[in-house]
Amino acid sequence: QAMSRPEWLKIKLNTGEEYQELKRLMRSKSLHTVCEEARCPNIYECWTHRTATFMILGETCTRACRFCAVHSGKPTELDLQEPERVAEACVQMDLQHAVVTSVARDDLADGGASIFAETIRAIRRRLPTCGVEVLIPDFLGNWDALATVLDASPDILNHNIETVRRLSDKVRSKAKYDRTLELLQRSKELRPDIRTKSSIMVGLGETVDEILETLDDLRAVQVDIVTIGQYLQPTKKHLLVEKFYTPTEFLRLRGEGLARGFAHVESGPMVRSSYHAHEQVLRADGM
Ligand code: SF4
Ligand code: SF4
Repeated sequence: QAMSRPEWLKIKLNTGEEYQELKRLMRSKSLHTVCEEARCPNIYECWTHRTATFMILGETCTRACRFCAVHSGKPTELDLQEPERVAEACVQMDLQHAVVTSVARDDLADGGASIFAETIRAIRRRLPTCGVEVLIPDFLGNWDALATVLDASPDILNHNIETVRRLSDKVRSKAKYDRTLELLQRSKELRPDIRTKSSIMVGLGETVDEILETLDDLRAVQVDIVTIGQYLQPTKKHLLVEKFYTPTEFLRLRGEGLARGFAHVESGPMVRSSYHAHEQVLRADGM
């Protein structure tokens, strides 16, 4: 039986002019963002701050995680024009911060890493002022693929741990808790100048102590930025929400994160991986 959502998770609609303008632009150019497609509640705020998330490598994932609403199955062919199209969208939206993510493409030898790299380079070429963050899959532990992405010098390398160690195998499909930590560690070793980032969803039945242990694990591999947000069940077929954390509990988790030495911690009911991402780049640079 699903619990009903508490008051603090009800979405406030905002029809600000800037948001409406961007929305019209997106329609007229047939551009697509995760922000719109996932009906992300933060869209008004993010778009006003010129932050958006793009999904590359198609809409069909080779995995089926039990929290995720992305369609799973046999992926479509690669679209080699995609990096340029995403860069064009960044220009059109005049973005300050672009987040590029993808489904897991376990069918491809490099997991799609070269398309990630080309997308980073295309955005840099077309809109040099735009910060670029990539939220990558684990490439099944193909560390050459990771190096390919890092060679293109994103500002932030993001890879989500998603949940605590005990629940990892139940919640995620194929991804492994320790492989996630290894990816983040290797990224830091290869390119210490690139900020690493990871996200935790809470409300899947973990204890607070387990969350703190995950924060310790992320800090031990020198992750710079952590985001903590409430898990919400996308459809009845997905995992149930076991607990709604209150805004005060999220604040406490933020304090725990900061006390551990992360440079930036976003923690709140509506926090998503890319939420306030633009600020993380600015603060990362010490501005
Ligand atoms: Fe888009 Fe991410 Fe912001 Fe949601 S949190 S609106 S997906 S950039
Ligand atoms: Fe969703 Fe990513 Fe899991 Fe695919 S790998 S089902 S996109 S969370």
